[in-house]
Amino acid sequence: MIMDLHNHTVFSYDGVNSAEQVIENAIYHGVDVVGITDHQFSIGSGNMGEYIEKLTECKRKYFGYIKVLAGLEIGTRPRPDDLLTYDIEKLDYVLFESLDDFRAMDFFEFVSWRRRYSCPVGLAHCDIFALGERYGLDMPEVLRSERIFWELNTSGNYNCYYDFLTNAAKRGAIKRAGVGVSVGSDTHDITEYRFKQLKRANELVERAGLAKPFEI
Ligand SMILES: [Zn+2]
Repeated sequence: MIMDLHNHTVFSYDGVNSAEQVIENAIYHGVDVVGITDHQFSIGSGNMGEYIEKLTECKRKYFGYIKVLAGLEIGTRPRPDDLLTYDIEKLDYVLFESLDDFRAMDFFEFVSWRRRYSCPVGLAHCDIFALGERYGLDMPEVLRSERIFWELNTSGNYNCYYDFLTNAAKRGAIKRAGVGVSVGSDTHDITEYRFKQLKRANELVERAGLAKPFEI
């Protein structure tokens, strides 16, 4: 199974494609599950209804061809003030990005937010091992107990994914803890779609026997 749970559309300030274009590109490449995750700050809480409606329409339109999931990427640098005004429970999942960045919100505050939501929550492009070291936490164990999944981001912009690829100890820690793992291309323009890297990460998840991020 090939998942790609991190994609941007024109609802993001930096996405250039429509949701249909992103989904049809995923179908063309043989992706089984595609997630749209536009930025909360560019959608705006006032337009969340329109965003969710668009993705619901796409779920119906492409039913039988590909599974479409409605996600959201929440920026944490700095912590957004208006998060609780977003109707997050209508989404299939939410990604919090770059929590390992020194400008990001406090990890424990993030966890307290995560507990408010029943929908699946994941960490996008975040070096969880570095973050664990900084906070003195066994991060795989924390993610398991707080029901937080972790993303392998194949955009080529984040070294922690490549580190994970070559580090058996880290793969073992994630597997032992049973942390769910997602794969996301973080595509902003389908002409730059990195399918080979996406496929490779999906194969790694399968081969290593890592848990699914949530029921997909
Ligand atoms: Zn993104």
